[in-house]
Amino acid sequence: MHFTTAIKPPDHIPGLKRYFLFQNNRLLTIESGSNISVPMADDIADIPVKLISFHYLGRLDGTYCFFGEMDPAAEIPRNMALHGLRRLYGALNEKLYALAGRAMHILDWDATYQMCSKCGNRLHEKENELLAKHCPICNQSYYLNPSPAVIVAVIKDDSILLAHANRFSGMFYSVIAGFVEPGEDLEACVKREVKEETNIDVKNVRYFGSQPWPYSHSLMIGFTAEYAGGSIKVDGEENSDAAWFKADSLPEQIPGELSIARKLIDWFIEQNIMRLPSSTIKS
Ligand SMILES: [Zn+2]
Repeated sequence: MHFTTAIKPPDHIPGLKRYFLFQNNRLLTIESGSNISVPMADDIADIPVKLISFHYLGRLDGTYCFFGEMDPAAEIPRNMALHGLRRLYGALNEKLYALAGRAMHILDWDATYQMCSKCGNRLHEKENELLAKHCPICNQSYYLNPSPAVIVAVIKDDSILLAHANRFSGMFYSVIAGFVEPGEDLEACVKREVKEETNIDVKNVRYFGSQPWPYSHSLMIGFTAEYAGGSIKVDGEENSDAAWFKADSLPEQIPGELSIARKLIDWFIEQNIMRLPSSTIKS
């Protein structure tokens, strides 16, 4: 499937239209049997859905996609439902899921950037630029840029470094992650974050993959790294614990399949699976 974006849709829309509509951060979906999808214009043509905002998203193959925010009090039609995006992972097709994440990020940015933070005047959308606003009084421009964040699987022999952050409940452990600071390259960010959070030094930082993460308006950039020295010490503020885990003794709770954090952990398991007796491998 091919997606192309544009500032405005064509005056005459020659194809089908699809609507990504949100209410309180949850996406309106249409369900038939076990199939969940994003409604087409025809699905909601006869239903009075009161919208607070409505924008053009882009063209997905021959379908013109729009997105918007529904009135918080708008009633949901009977064959439709509202779902948080995290819950829809794996249920919606991958391309629609990615577009829903894009739409949610833009809506949130639009709601957050209403006034100029320099002079306090109301911001206008830039007519000839996508995802940009400007202040007509002081001429300051504002752009929607995801924040880059690194996420890293640190490996020591046959173990992976996982930390329990204070913001997580229960026995949830994950790989180390953090936002890139000004003037820092990605490799330096990986080394700093791991050192700050666990007191471990790493080497051989290698790119793994990336993932847009609309929930924190970031682009997660995944790496693997090797242990280079130091013993684990957590700061107690961000993390209450960190430890080395073998593939057959992972914590009870690890990130869900949606995240690149889980893909890094799955990669580690795959690297080490040959060394384990099959009866000990967690499904
Ligand atoms: Zn201004």
